[in-house]
Amino acid sequence: MEHLKNIPNMDEILKNPHVMALCSRVRRDLVVAAARVAVAGLRTELLERPQPASKTSLLEQAVERTTKTINDLKRGTLQEVINGTGVVLHTNLGRAPLSAMALQEIYHLGAGYTNLEMELSSGDRGSRYRHLEGLLTRLTGAEAALVVNNNAAAVFLGLNTLAAGREVIVSRGQLVEIGGAFRIPEVMKASGACLVEVGTTNKTYGADYLEAINAETALLFSAHTSNYRIVGFTREVSLAELVEVGQRASLPVMHDLGSGVLCDLSAWGLKEEPTVKASIEAGVDIVTFSGDKLLGGPQAGIIVGKKTYIDAMKKNQLLRALRVDKLTIAALEGTLKAYLTEHPEQDIPVLRMLTAAPEELYDKSGQLCQELQTAVGSHPRVSHIAVVPLEDRVGGGAYPIHSLPGCGVEIAIGQGLEAIARRLRQSRPALLTRIQDNCLLISARTVEMVQIKQIAELLKQALKDVQSEGKTGSESAQEEI
Ligand SMILES: *Cc1c(COP(=O)(O)O)cnc(C)c1O
Repeated sequence: MEHLKNIPNMDEILKNPHVMALCSRVRRDLVVAAARVAVAGLRTELLERPQPASKTSLLEQAVERTTKTINDLKRGTLQEVINGTGVVLHTNLGRAPLSAMALQEIYHLGAGYTNLEMELSSGDRGSRYRHLEGLLTRLTGAEAALVVNNNAAAVFLGLNTLAAGREVIVSRGQLVEIGGAFRIPEVMKASGACLVEVGTTNKTYGADYLEAINAETALLFSAHTSNYRIVGFTREVSLAELVEVGQRASLPVMHDLGSGVLCDLSAWGLKEEPTVKASIEAGVDIVTFSGDKLLGGPQAGIIVGKKTYIDAMKKNQLLRALRVDKLTIAALEGTLKAYLTEHPEQDIPVLRMLTAAPEELYDKSGQLCQELQTAVGSHPRVSHIAVVPLEDRVGGGAYPIHSLPGCGVEIAIGQGLEAIARRLRQSRPALLTRIQDNCLLISARTVEMVQIKQIAELLKQALKDVQSEGKTGSESAQEEI
């Protein structure tokens, strides 16, 4: 194979100044491995599509590929995203941004040793689960609390502890699927509990539960239908009613709330999402919810309720596999402290964004609009930039039919809109926008003031990149422009 003889050998690659510079910053064996892959790739390509290639050009390509592999590795894959979508709790974007207090606790406690599992007064071994219990019981009115890895784990642990090998009664209207991976029937199966469905999709009565109860019944389960609503001719059993049924049959009631709201948000028109306190006050025995939905903290599953049931869960061997890390405890503690004040919405980013005043969103949009005008207003592809009203969303499976009146900027782009949006997603930091009627939309609600200048720069660069792609007729330009 004539073409293959020009492929550089390892020595030639490793003597290249760029590659030598790489070796001064990264372990040499990693650079060598990357160079081997680059050479193998070039060889395969030449075998598949034989074509003349000079020694110089092949060496250049090998160096370029090696450098890219190492740089990608150094960069990592988890990266900052500017959320211009107006969806506050975006599961794909990591749900809740953390509060300053949560970050401080992570930084401070993560850097050193802590009393994670030690009673400092006696020097004896302690439990990591005692740390958040005080805050959680005070804030929810529950007797006891336990924090695990996420809400799916909380539901799983509750079902396994209280109902493995026995029956759990659930209304047919509540067999929810959350984000594809969490389905009540499947979690139930995995936990070893046996699901008994009662009622119909749209109507379930207290009598339906009573009829299904038998000697095998261990638990009455209610799931908040957090990402959909059944509307029209409907009937669900209220929590109070379900608790009454449970008491008559001496069975515990467990409520999967999904998004745990710890404070009253009705002053901002956010009334539909039930609070944890309301479930506890209704007499529910076990309530589970997420740490990173409306609560605005780190990923965690929070279980609050009657002490006997929580104690049983603490004794379950499975807890070890679901246990939270000290960083989660630190972040959750930092988050929860804000709820001790009258105005948690001042500290918790999720609540701040949800309760932002219309004037604030309007002002922010105005500033963003101005920056964008300056940066890209005269670009040939941009026909206009304007402040517009938008409909934002809570997201994270909360308030499925509730949109938030928002405000943002629309950028009308004549050509290559999709290509530009993709460029923005691939920039560093990435910028996520909405696309509607030939416009890019950027909502002010989920954008921070300090990101405004950056957004203008990113769009300017994206327009430039797509323009030059268009000229060279590259792949993506052919696709979409
Ligand atoms: C979100 C949600 C879950 C899953 O919670 P994770 O914290 O994502 O594990 C379970 N049940 C309900 C009702 C939910 O809304």
